[in-house]
Amino acid sequence: MVLGSGSAAPRLDRRSPAQLITYHDQAFLIDCGEGTQYELLRHGIKVSRISRILISHLHADHCLGLFGLLSTFNLHDRKQALTIHGPTGLSEWLYTLAKLTQTFWKYPLEVIEHDTSHPSLIVDEPDLEIMTIPLHHKLPCAGFLIKERRSRVKLDRDKLPSFLSDQQKAALARSESVKGPEGQWIHPADVEAETPGLRSFAYCSDTNFKPDLCEWIEGVGTLYHEATFASDLVERARLTLHSTGQEAATIAYMAKVKELLIGHFSSRYESPERILAEAKEIFSATFAVYDGFYHSIAAHQSFERP
Ligand SMILES: [Zn+2]
Ligand SMILES: [Zn+2]
Repeated sequence: MVLGSGSAAPRLDRRSPAQLITYHDQAFLIDCGEGTQYELLRHGIKVSRISRILISHLHADHCLGLFGLLSTFNLHDRKQALTIHGPTGLSEWLYTLAKLTQTFWKYPLEVIEHDTSHPSLIVDEPDLEIMTIPLHHKLPCAGFLIKERRSRVKLDRDKLPSFLSDQQKAALARSESVKGPEGQWIHPADVEAETPGLRSFAYCSDTNFKPDLCEWIEGVGTLYHEATFASDLVERARLTLHSTGQEAATIAYMAKVKELLIGHFSSRYESPERILAEAKEIFSATFAVYDGFYHSIAAHQSFERP
């Protein structure tokens, strides 16, 4: 879910950047602009589910909400561990604020910094991996590529025999076969729902047009790429190290992704209509996000290499 679709200058209808990715019982927050916790409240999101926070860079619009959110976790008597990934300097920024405000975290908090100049594998779990993607911006900045490594079995209710107990259904969901009352075996493949394949999501935060991005995001199911400006302000995009909608769409086209989400619209635009129209001319499966935009992540595309 997109919690903030705006950029640096505030607008009443667009918060600063933040997105929430839910994955089974976990949730990851990507960027945490000012006011992110109000959007979490507005959408009734249980913040205790957030197990990781990924910060792309230290510009205020992408991280100013972080300290407030971490302090709210204290007020909620959070006990669950929290890991924050971000660029070099994040830890100093956070712990300086904590020292000056005499804030002590009541829950296990780990801040892991990465070098944004090259891709790094920052989460390496059996079900999921997260890589950083080097971006080109005024401050050290990285995007994130989140890839499912194996999908959990999803049961199709219509295929489930009525005699199965809850424990047996749970066993099937863990990919275990179970025995029916007459000794017959029920295998996960018999009752599995059709799944779209392994999903992948790339988050390309603030960046200048950077075609070599495609090397890391080829075939991604859902790509989010910033599109701060329309084409008339391409010079401004170069100067401020941002992208236009056309450039975001060019990246999506070149990387052969399935669909493109664009956001981080400059506050000068009343509506992203023009940015979206220009992007769609290049890559038709483009969507302009808004605060509260909810979307299922698409499956990764595989291509035969010649
Ligand atoms: Zn920004
Ligand atoms: Zn920025």
